[in-house]
This record gives sequence, structure tokens and C-alpha cells, in this order.
Amino acid sequence: MEYERLNNVEVNIPKIGLGTYQIELSPRDEAISALRRGIELGMTLIDTAEMYGWGRSEEIVGEAIKPFDREELTIVTKVWGTNLAYESVKKSAKASIARLGTYIDVYLIHWPNPSYPLGETLKAMKELVSEGIIRYIGVSNFSLGQLKEARNLLRNNDIVTNQVEYSLRVRDPEADILPYCQKEKITLMAYSPLDRGRILKRPPQKLKVIAARLGKSVAQIAINWLISKPMVVAIPKASKVEHVEENAGAAGRRIPQDLMTELEDLEEERARWPRS
Ligand code: NAP
Repeated sequence: MEYERLNNVEVNIPKIGLGTYQIELSPRDEAISALRRGIELGMTLIDTAEMYGWGRSEEIVGEAIKPFDREELTIVTKVWGTNLAYESVKKSAKASIARLGTYIDVYLIHWPNPSYPLGETLKAMKELVSEGIIRYIGVSNFSLGQLKEARNLLRNNDIVTNQVEYSLRVRDPEADILPYCQKEKITLMAYSPLDRGRILKRPPQKLKVIAARLGKSVAQIAINWLISKPMVVAIPKASKVEHVEENAGAAGRRIPQDLMTELEDLEEERARWPRS
């Protein structure tokens, strides 16, 4: 496995973690086996949220991590956008740790919501750090302006990550969030790195050819491309052991520059990729 530093804190996280959105829809044993296999393979960064199956995903994560050394894991969960009032944040975090059976490493605001003053939400999160309920604060789906605002409301380095959609198809973060995160050393967690599985169902021809030339699968190339970028980690979700194993195999050798250029030039094909 390859590693990235979590912001400026003394924590190393794997470049490839485990997503868990809708994992509760799979048979429980299969989901737990997939997560455990991922952890064995070094995917010790696990992403969940109170909103995923309204707590059921967190419960599955709690069960899956039981045999492992807690210190080796980085558990990320999120407070939903309607629970951002001071008291609700505290209540949500406590409910999450009850379901997870352990503290939270990184607690994210799932989506920004202008109905709640950001300062109030962050005040509650800071107190959760002091109380030992969470270790670090992060955000998700924040624009660059919102990320800067959050950083201004805290000491500058207190936001350790912005989790945003980023894949070979969705490259919006490259416009501003990615360069800013790289410059400021904020971890960018790339969600839906496989475009929710769509990139595998109907891969662009060029991507298929490049994968075949490198002896890798399409999923592995899509993930390798993301993790080749400084400060970026990817959190593919897979509820099948074989998918987890394939995704873990994305770490390692980099895509050669000439093929990288071809891959990044998927613009035209990208426009034709199906959205669903
Ligand atoms: P994704 O990881 O891009 O794709 C997941 C889909 O790809 C699943 O259907 C999975 O199938 C399939 N898959 C994974 N690896 C595969 C492989 N090697 N071969 C074939 N199929 C494979 O999509 P995502 O779940 O939207 O995103 C990943 C994670 O990011 C989420 O689970 C969640 O933790 C996080 N996320 C966060 C936000 C946010 O707002 N912060 C939003 C969306 C997602 P199986 O399950 O059948 O294995």
C-alpha cells in the first residue's frame, strides 16, 4: 500500500481506502468480509456517514473493525447537513460513536448548509475534539470559498480534509480545490473514484486500451490515476471481496507519462460518458 499524510498531522493514511455508501444493501456477511479483506490489504482508511442507511453503514463498519488494532485504522464519518446546529452536531457524533463502537478519527460536515452558521457547527466540532470523541475535523463537498471560510473560523490547519467527487470523469476539483489543497497540504479525499461503478460498465475505449497495455484492470487504472496526485487519496466502495482485492491492486507502479497524457486527454470521450 502507498501512504499519504493527513494534512499536517502526524497520521499516515493509505492512498486507497474503503467507501461504504449503500454497503448495508449487501448481505451483511459479504459486506463485513469485504471490509475486513480491505483492511488486511492495507486499506485502513474507512469512510462512512450517519446518513448511509441512517446508521446501518456505521454499524457494519463497527462490526467489521472489531478484530483489528484500532490504532491502525482511520475512521471517517460525517454529520448530515440538517444536523449542523450546535447541539445536533454533538448528538450526531455521540450516536455515531455508539454505532461504530469507537471514537471517530476524522469527522466531516457532509454538505455545507447555509441555514446553519458555520462557526456554530465548527465550535461544536472543536469541543468534540477536546472531549476525545473525534480526533480531527474535516469537510465534504465544500467549494474553495467555503473551505477558506471554514479555515478562517478555525486555526488554519485544523481542517484536515475536503472530501469531494473526483474521478477520470468528474475533474472539477482540478480547477481550484486540488491546487489549493496541494499548496496548503490539505488531504483531498476523492469520492466516487469509479464514477459510482459506471466507468467500469462502459469504459471509454482509450481507457480500456491503456489498462490492457499496462496489464491492469480499468478500475485499477482509474484509481492509480487519482492516487498518483499529491495529497489525493481515493475511497472506492466495494462490497465484494474480489472487487476490494482488485482495487487494492491499484497501488504501486505509476502510469508512464505518455500514457498519462493520453488518459488525461479523454475530454472528448468524457463528454459522451453516460451519466447513469
Ligand atoms: P464508487 O466507489 O465510484 O463506485 C462504487 C461501485 O463500483 C459499486 O457499485 C461497486 O460494486 C463497484 N465497484 C467497486 N470496485 C469494483 C471493481 N473492482 N470491479 C467492479 N465493480 C466495482 O462510488 P461511491 O460509492 O459513490 O463512492 C465511494 C465512496 O465515497 C462511497 O461509498 C462513500 O463512502 C463516499 N462518498 C461520499 C460522498 C460525499 O458526499 N462525501 C458522496 C458519494 C460517495 P460492489 O459494491 O458490488 O463491489
